[in-house]
Amino acid sequence: MKKHAIIYHEDYNKYDLGVDHPLIGDKPKNTMAFLKEKNLLSLFQVFTPKKATEADLLAVHDLSYIEHVKQLSQTGGWLSEDTPAPKGIFEIASLATGGSICAGEKLFEGFEITINPLGGFHHASKGHSSGFCFFNDIAITIEYLRKKHKLKRFLIIDLDVHHGNGTQDIYINDKTVLNISFHQDGRTLYPGTGRVETIGREDAAGYTVNLPFPPGTGGVSYLKAFKAIVPPITRQFQPEIILYQAGVDTHHADPLADLNLTYQTYYQLAKHIAELSKETCQKLLVLLGGGYNSIACINSYYNVICGLLGNKDFLEEEELPDTDPEQVQNTVNQLKQYLSEYWSL
Ligand SMILES: [Zn+2]
Repeated sequence: MKKHAIIYHEDYNKYDLGVDHPLIGDKPKNTMAFLKEKNLLSLFQVFTPKKATEADLLAVHDLSYIEHVKQLSQTGGWLSEDTPAPKGIFEIASLATGGSICAGEKLFEGFEITINPLGGFHHASKGHSSGFCFFNDIAITIEYLRKKHKLKRFLIIDLDVHHGNGTQDIYINDKTVLNISFHQDGRTLYPGTGRVETIGREDAAGYTVNLPFPPGTGGVSYLKAFKAIVPPITRQFQPEIILYQAGVDTHHADPLADLNLTYQTYYQLAKHIAELSKETCQKLLVLLGGGYNSIACINSYYNVICGLLGNKDFLEEEELPDTDPEQVQNTVNQLKQYLSEYWSL
């Protein structure tokens, strides 16, 4: 049996928010084609997902919100200022969510790494959403697995350039879900949240971890920060599953954000996360999140997958300078300070 799985449906390209919108639908298809071209697809078993059921969605979202999306999906309209709701989006967003659930489920059927190339919709909260997201597939998958497999320790590592505000809203009081988000500083980027001092509430304090980076942060500083925070917390928490939101809108060519990561950084990050999974739970669910420069995005996802597999045939480009490594180091030190009661770092 193969050790890894990819979840894919040919309708994935219908998650497309229109010609003038940054979210175009062909990324999953192009990712699959590139993996095939590079002879990596044969290392994965490919599964076709089913749509998430309404009961699945209800484990996270309010009924009135689900009804609202359904209504928009019939007529077409806008979910929020930045998120058009094309006709049929309810079905497609349910399919994307079903893909993440399927990827989660496969980890309990013997697969060690599973990938949903249309996932990681971390801006969707219980009763509202924006940022191109309709349903929070990360949380819906967690709730599905919690119920079915009685899990108690979920780790989210969200490396998308945008803060995962929806996921944070859902789990800020829940210490069974340790939610680590690395993102561009909210003072300079949507959605504006994810401050270093936001660490979770009451007895879940220490289980929300936010590391904001200043614009211009490059791969060297980013990786250094990653190594200072993520491995020690992961080892102490001992997750039963890791959900990795592998957004690549941190790339220097991304049109929506201002970090300066390069292709090789994605390889390194994914490699570290795969090693942490191997060391702790052997269950790694990868959601290929944001990324809005078509070419950079497919190359970056490819490098994520090379990192997961330890495939040394990854792409490289010239490393870009870090604008303010001192600022990054200061924020890492602040974060360590805020978390010192909860984790030894
Ligand atoms: Zn993003």
